[in-house]
Amino acid sequence: MDNRTHATNAVAGETATVAGWVHEIRDLGGIAFLILRDRTGKLQIKFEKDEMDDGLVETGLGVHRESVVAVTGAVEEEPRAPTGLELVPDSVEVLADADPELPLDPSGKVDAELPTRLDNRTLDLRKPEIKAIFEIRSEILRSVREYFRSVGSTEINTPKIVATGTEGGTELFPITYFGQEAFMNQSPQLFKQLMVGSGLERVFEIGPIFRAEEHNTPRHLNEATMIDFESAFVDHHEAMDVCEGTLKAAYEGVAENCTEELDLLGYDGFATPEGDFPRLTYEEAIERINATGELDEQLVWGDDLPTEAEKALGADVGGHYFITDWPSEIKPFYIQDYDDDPQLSKGFDLMHPQMELVSGGQREHRYDELVAGFEQQGLDPEQFDYYTRMFKYGMPPHAGWAYGVERLVMTMLGLGNIREAVLFPRDRQRLSP
Ligand code: ATP
Ligand code: MG
Repeated sequence: MDNRTHATNAVAGETATVAGWVHEIRDLGGIAFLILRDRTGKLQIKFEKDEMDDGLVETGLGVHRESVVAVTGAVEEEPRAPTGLELVPDSVEVLADADPELPLDPSGKVDAELPTRLDNRTLDLRKPEIKAIFEIRSEILRSVREYFRSVGSTEINTPKIVATGTEGGTELFPITYFGQEAFMNQSPQLFKQLMVGSGLERVFEIGPIFRAEEHNTPRHLNEATMIDFESAFVDHHEAMDVCEGTLKAAYEGVAENCTEELDLLGYDGFATPEGDFPRLTYEEAIERINATGELDEQLVWGDDLPTEAEKALGADVGGHYFITDWPSEIKPFYIQDYDDDPQLSKGFDLMHPQMELVSGGQREHRYDELVAGFEQQGLDPEQFDYYTRMFKYGMPPHAGWAYGVERLVMTMLGLGNIREAVLFPRDRQRLSP
C-alpha cells in the first residue's frame, strides 16, 4: 500500500524511496540539503551541484517548503547529518507543490496564535509536538477500551439526535428533525441505563456529546467526546473502582507506548498516579476547603463547589481524588439517594487537582422513586416515558460514570486550554473548520 521507506527507517548501503514534506532547504553553495520530514522524523537529502544532473538539482532545490516530494537514491552514512544518515538522490518527484506563502510555519520557528493554528490544523499537526498530543489521545482511547473489555464491558453506540435532554432543558442545541423539534444529545446517560437492564448488563460508549454552554472557558467545549460507563449489579463504590482503573490504564498505556511523544512534549519522567485515590465525602471536602482559608467566603453544606474551591482542595490533596455523598439537590434526578438520609445522594465526582474529570453515581432503579425524582427536579416524567417504562420490567441496581476525553488529555499533559486536546474545537466563536 505504502512501500516507501520512512525517514527514520533508512538503512545505509541500501537504495530507498522516501516521501514526505520539504521541511527546509539549506543551500551552502556547492552543496545543498533538502530536509525531508514524514511522520517518523526527518532525513537529510544531499545535493552536490557539480556532480549531479542540473534538472535534478533544480527540481530538488527549487521546490517550496512544505511541498510533498518523493525521493529515490542511495542511503549513506554521514556522521554530520542529524540522524547520522543522508540520501543521495537519483530522482526527485514533486507530488504536490506548496504555496510559498504559508499561513503557519510548521517548523515552529515563527510562533502562531491558537486561532491561526486551529484555522490551519493540517499545518499545525505537522509540528511533531502538536501531533504528539493526538498520538497520546489515540493511545488513551486504546488503553481505556482495552481496560473496559478486560472487565467484561461491551462497547455500544447510542443516538446523538434525541427527543429530550437529560440534564434539564438548558444547554441543549435544538435541531429540526423532519419538521419536528429535536436536540443534539448532551449525554448518553439514559440510553446506557436502558442497556444495563438489557442482556448486555455492563456497557461503555465513547462518543460525542453536545452542550450549548454559553460561557467560554479554557475547560469547556460545545462538542466533546465522552467516555461513558454503566454496569448492572454494582454500587457507586464499585463504579469508582472501574473509573480509577480506566484512568490508571490510560496513564500506564501512555507511559509505556508514547515515550517518543512524551519526550517531544518535554517530559523528563512522566508520573502515573500511584496508590488508591482518596475518597472524601462532600462534607469532608467542604471542611477541608474552608480550612485552607483560600476562599473569601466559607462554604456551607448544599453549595456546589466553585472553581476556586476545587483548586484549593486539589492543591491540598495533591493528586486525583473522589468526592462522594453529594447533597441530592445538586445532583441529577437519576442519581439514587441514601434511604436513611434522602438529603444525601450516592453521586460522586473524580477530581484532578485542577478540575472535575468525572461525574457518576449509583442510579435510581426503582420506578416509583425515579418518577418522584423527575417531579422534584421540575421535569415532566411523561416526556421520559420511553425511559421510565423500562424500569417497570426488571431494571437491576446499577451505577456508572462519564468523563470527557479532552479533560483527560488536558490534565494528563498539563495543557492550558482544552482546545489543544481536540482537532477541530466547537466553541462560541468556532463552527468551522
Ligand atoms: P463542569 O461542572 O466542569 O462544567 P459538568 O458537571 O457540567 O462539568 P457532567 O455533566 O458531570 O459535567 O459531565 C461529565 C464529564 O464530562 C465532566 O466531568 C467533564 O469531564 C466532561 N464535560 C462535561 N461538560 C463538558 C464540556 N462542556 N466540555 C468538555 N468536557 C465536558
Ligand atoms: Mg459533573
